[in-house]
Amino acid sequence: MQICPFCKTELPDDSIKCSGCGARHGYLIRKTVQQKPWLMVRLFVWIGIAVVCLLGGYAVTAALAKIPLIAMAIFAVWKAIPYGVLLRKKARWWRRT
Ligand SMILES: [Zn+2]
Repeated sequence: MQICPFCKTELPDDSIKCSGCGARHGYLIRKTVQQKPWLMVRLFVWIGIAVVCLLGGYAVTAALAKIPLIAMAIFAVWKAIPYGVLLRKKARWWRRT
């Protein structure tokens, strides 16, 4: 049993939305509340892109082709970091104010 921090409604342990006030349990990303699996999918997609670009950048010999691939790999790692940081934290309740 868990209790909504906003309206004190008692909720089942696995509930992700408060039946009392509509608060959502999860991680806040760009003003939406998301569940952990969604974060993990995003994290793995960006890491996958980074790995593919790094391998591509390593495989191609032309410097002009290397640069955008390495840049894309760095960008993908940059995009993955916030998800990695969030996943280290606990999910919590959020309510639109
Ligand atoms: Zn509530």
